Amino acid sequence: MEFKKRKLLMNALNVIAVGLMIWQLMRWSWVTFWISLAFVAAAIAANRALWRCPHCGEHLGMGAEETCPKCGRRLDGGQ
Ligand SMILES: [Zn+2]
Repeated sequence: MEFKKRKLLMNALNVIAVGLMIWQLMRWSWVTFWISLAFVAAAIAANRALWRCPHCGEHLGMGAEETCPKCGRRLDGGQ
């Protein structure tokens, strides 16, 4: 998968997970609890699986935006 698409997917999952958590805090029920838990788990799983450097495969952590912290190459497809 293209890095930009992976980043978009990650961001979408994070936004949904955070949104559901907030919603759940305001209107708590078992249904929203399990749905939000599922999305948080999905966001974490996607982060572990997808949030990696396309060049060296290193996990990028929280701060990486433009370049890989390990190999220093650009993440958006440029060499
Ligand atoms: Zn790298």
